Amino acid sequence: MTQVVTRFAPSPTGHLHIGGARTAIFSWLLARHNGGKFHLRIEDTDLARSRQEYTDSILASMQWLGLDWDAPPMYQTQRTQAYDEAVEQLLRTGHAYWCACTPEEVEAMREKARAEGTKPRYDGRCRDRGLGKAPGSCVRLRLPDRGVIAFRDMVKGDIGVDVAELDDMVIRRADGMPTYNMAVVVDDSALGVTHVLRGDDHISNTPRQIVLYQALGLPVPIFGHVPMILGSNRQKLSKRDGARAVIEYEQDGLLPDALVNYLARLGWSHGNQELFSREELVEFFDGTNLNPSAAAFDPAKLDWCNAQHMRSMPLETLADRVRPFVEAIGLQIPGERALIGLCKLFRERATTLKALAEAFRPLLIGSRDLAYAAKDATKHLGETAGPHLAAFAEIFGQCEPFTADALDAAFNAYVADNGLQFKTVAPVLRTALMGFMGGGHLDLTMEVLGREETLARLAKAAAWRPEVAG
Ligand code: GLU
Repeated sequence: MTQVVTRFAPSPTGHLHIGGARTAIFSWLLARHNGGKFHLRIEDTDLARSRQEYTDSILASMQWLGLDWDAPPMYQTQRTQAYDEAVEQLLRTGHAYWCACTPEEVEAMREKARAEGTKPRYDGRCRDRGLGKAPGSCVRLRLPDRGVIAFRDMVKGDIGVDVAELDDMVIRRADGMPTYNMAVVVDDSALGVTHVLRGDDHISNTPRQIVLYQALGLPVPIFGHVPMILGSNRQKLSKRDGARAVIEYEQDGLLPDALVNYLARLGWSHGNQELFSREELVEFFDGTNLNPSAAAFDPAKLDWCNAQHMRSMPLETLADRVRPFVEAIGLQIPGERALIGLCKLFRERATTLKALAEAFRPLLIGSRDLAYAAKDATKHLGETAGPHLAAFAEIFGQCEPFTADALDAAFNAYVADNGLQFKTVAPVLRTALMGFMGGGHLDLTMEVLGREETLARLAKAAAWRPEVAG
């Protein structure tokens, strides 16, 4: 069994978007599932539109998604010699010929065909003219006279195209550059690619590429064309549908594992399972069960998927992931233990890392900056709260060690020893600590705040007085 080799071949004319990312994910998974190789090729031959910053951005997004590649990326602009050699070979073996037709002449042929109601195509005028290289000339592939080009698509099943549908395509432009189909075939074969997974906007290129492989005497890879991702209205995906560059999802605080999970599931299935760890995806993705019809992008489901991943990942990892977001909103980063505590307190309440960092805010500001929700303070920090707040300061001040367990025990003892009810005293403590009736477990909240800050908040709450109107 030959080793499975796949590739992702972005054009660096923009950032990596979710459609491209999904193709990359499928290709990467197929390679990893089979213990094969995954390559990156930067298709940068469009000099006017390709930019280094986009190449950098695409590579950074790939890295962030955790889609590692097995060799330095291939750049098409560095491959001129290989393309020239392939064209030479095709000329030598009679599979290609020089064509001196001007673009106007070719257009006239197309026009004529259209007028006659046939498929617009190049009429093969230069096929047997025995022309050589000349300024303005291009090289065309000589198609077989008849036959059907058939292949079994991994996604769409059996496909057959009659060569009568095609024409002698240009493989080398007048400016010496190879055409897209020529470059792709030379490169995929140089990389030893066995499986080409790409968007179905390329499906019409595939028969042409197969003819090229055959003319070059090269093995033809297996193809799979995945349908594009649609917007919620089942139209072309747009920004309005929440379709953005991968880098924007990163900035929004999505987890790479969640985005990979969601995108993999969009167009592929494994029973009814929705949530997958990366290991599971690698285990289950064997290139089957790819959906031949287009799937619609659903931002709400992506958020849900992210929330689920945030809940199930190790707290230490979540803490590492959220740290830069805490920093970005200008909050003081707490120590490791406190940060983990914060993640534990709030991870069920946020769908993104950005929202999670924001949820930490009331606990990461100093007591001086803590503001009270008027309604909650009026209700819970009134006169009857005074004795409780004083008692809390006393018992928690002495709590040793200042840990959630010890604080919980001290609080329960206070409630029991004084014949109180949890529901009468807990809101007092909660409002004092958080400024409002929200947040998570009180014991852990205090541990995260630390002794000094807890006592400062209790003192501030004790001093609270309702504002007198007027
Ligand atoms: N550079 C092409 C694109 O971005 C990829 C073509 C291919 O995968 O063969 O659409």
